Amino acid sequence: MEVRFDRNTCIGMFQCTVEWDAFEENTDAGKADLADAEEVEDGIFVREIPEDAELDAKFAARACPVDAIEVYDDEGNQVV
Ligand code: SF4
Repeated sequence: MEVRFDRNTCIGMFQCTVEWDAFEENTDAGKADLADAEEVEDGIFVREIPEDAELDAKFAARACPVDAIEVYDDEGNQVV
């Protein structure tokens, strides 16, 4: 599974950081940081989700009030 984080959309509510520790509070920027992610486009960060973190990642995506987090399965289908 893969997570895609649109940091441009993020408004720094930090619900995601409660759900999955790969999301870290960046209070200076007022946005979350996604650890170990690659910036594939300006402000768009992507990384693999470890198998044992798949539930946490889905909860993080569901918790985001502005839908800045998307989760994709291995076939590339969006699941959250
Ligand atoms: S929950 Fe959404 S808006 Fe809030 S910090 Fe996380 S990604 Fe940003």
